[in-house]
Amino acid sequence: MLPVSAPTPALRLARRAWALFLVEPDKAIRYADRALASALQHGDALAQAQARTVRGFHLQYFGTLAQAAAELRRAGAGFETLGDRAGSILATVGLARTLWRGGQFRVAVDLLLPLRDEGQRLLKPRDRAVLLNAIAGCYSSLGQSEQAIAYMHQALRDAGPRRGNGFDAVLHCNLANELTQLGDCEQALRHVGQGLSRCENMRNSFLRCALLINRVIILTDLGRAADALPDIDQVLTLPTDASGRGSNAPHFEALAIAALSAGQLALGERLVGMALIAPGLGVPDERVERAVALALLAQGQGDTATALAYLAGVRQVACDDQVDGLSLRVRCQFFQHASALNQRQDNTAQALADLQTWQALHQRQDQQAHRAHYHSAALQTELLRLTHRLQDSQAKRQATERSRARLAAINGQLAQKIIEVQALQEALRQQATVDVLTGLYNRRHLNEVLPAQLAIARRAGTPLALVLIDLDHFKAVNDRYGHPAGDTLLAAFGRLLAQSLRKSDLACRYGGEEFCLLLPRSTAAAARLKVQALLRRWRQAAFDLGTGKAQPRLQGQSFSAGVADSSDLLASPEALLAAADQALLAAKQTGRNRVLLAPATDPADPTDPPGSQAPPEPQTQTRRAPRLRRVA
Ligand code: GH3
Ligand code: MG
Ligand code: MG
Repeated sequence: MLPVSAPTPALRLARRAWALFLVEPDKAIRYADRALASALQHGDALAQAQARTVRGFHLQYFGTLAQAAAELRRAGAGFETLGDRAGSILATVGLARTLWRGGQFRVAVDLLLPLRDEGQRLLKPRDRAVLLNAIAGCYSSLGQSEQAIAYMHQALRDAGPRRGNGFDAVLHCNLANELTQLGDCEQALRHVGQGLSRCENMRNSFLRCALLINRVIILTDLGRAADALPDIDQVLTLPTDASGRGSNAPHFEALAIAALSAGQLALGERLVGMALIAPGLGVPDERVERAVALALLAQGQGDTATALAYLAGVRQVACDDQVDGLSLRVRCQFFQHASALNQRQDNTAQALADLQTWQALHQRQDQQAHRAHYHSAALQTELLRLTHRLQDSQAKRQATERSRARLAAINGQLAQKIIEVQALQEALRQQATVDVLTGLYNRRHLNEVLPAQLAIARRAGTPLALVLIDLDHFKAVNDRYGHPAGDTLLAAFGRLLAQSLRKSDLACRYGGEEFCLLLPRSTAAAARLKVQALLRRWRQAAFDLGTGKAQPRLQGQSFSAGVADSSDLLASPEALLAAADQALLAAKQTGRNRVLLAPATDPADPTDPPGSQAPPEPQTQTRRAPRLRRVA
């Protein structure tokens, strides 16, 4: 996988060059050269490989095949090093195409076919079309026109006029050529027409030239060689450098056959002369066509014997069914002319034999043409299926990634919600268990923890002391100083409790001016001592009540308390509370300002320690009957 980063200027230029490769080859090669220079200067390996690919493809048509192959090999190696598989495939396609143009058809096929499925997956539509077209070219040269046509049709689907960057014109040209091989000249003519009209928006005279040559060949095959003469003129006016035909095989022999078939002896002679000195491709088709052109010229000059001699020179090639690079069309053409010339020379038997061969080849063309339709459909289905499978798996992967992202987002939200809910719960718990005025736990919390504390104490075999405290004459404070003053006192008592107890102890506001203490691992007697100390501190505490000038100061407040601890008899929360409550009642009844033990805890009710006794209470001060507090 390549790191995804913004393309460098050199890479952008090289990509632009590739897009322009067919539309405007002149500009494309200028861009590619500049991109390569800049890429070399900056050590930009990707841009180098991309620029070399464009140069390699360009050199096939405007340089030598050896130069093209060298450049494409370097491009391929560059992509390979970078791990850019798509680039590497494209460079290999270019190399195979170069080998193909040099007549190494089978080597090219062996290079290309293994890339088909991977290329189908990785390449962009136009580049995919370049691959499919290269495969088509190989099949064509191996005489398998039906396969070739199928691949070309498929390529044309990938490289339509809008996204083909001009490659559709190449495909029209090649389809025309292939259909001509199968004798479907009308259809071929239509493709040439489409290709030429597409070329009008392009500056590619090389491609226009190839299309014109195709039209000349088709018109000749249709017996309309005279109609081809303007096209021949056009081809001949094109310069032979990169601004014109480039190093495109000029097919002068085919043009010569057309001119001679149209009775243009002088033009034909000129074209034959050009064919003989043109470099050409050296493929069998070209050799046979050259011989036919020479034969037609000789015949035009009235020398049938020489004409036949030219044909005899390539007869063996033309008869060979197995030779690569020899098309049915060229063979048909050969036997057609051979038959006519033999007849003219009164070689009737040979004329008949050639005629029969010509017929047989025509039949094969017909059969291939039929199979081509079938193959096109089959290949389309096969590639479509491949594409669908690819789209399917891509869609699945994207869906999985999308749902994973969604899940992650939901998880994030959920985690946030959980934090919020926990905070909320904590706040609620606080609100539910804490008394706002005193900051102590409330009675609900006591109800929750008391059973558990009792169970723990029993299991550990340790005592749990429970103390009930009731502030004395609290109503009088309210009555005298007002309710807020009473609140101040209650809050102060809460603070006193909170400061005086151990961490393991628990202080609750039991209700109104009543409080409850839970002292784990403490006997009632020990608890009583502690609470008596509390009583002393409470009595000593002084409070400024209210505001303003006359701030009343309150001191000498007392409370009464009853203490019990857990024992077999007082094993339940209710019993423990009731026992403490009874002791509290007794404390109230015996004069308040004291801490008494519950009878079950200590039947021998000890006297209060000195200093804890309050002055005697008036008889009217009585406490109501004991209340059994329910632990909900
Ligand atoms: P005793 O010594 O017999 O306990 O007398 P007491 O006046 O303390 O008892 P009583 O039960 O007669 O009165 C309790 C008072 O406590 C009555 C009630 O108005 C007051 N009180 C209860 N809760 C609050 C509170 O939250 N704030 C204030 N300011 N007063 C409260
Ligand atoms: Mg009370
Ligand atoms: Mg009271």
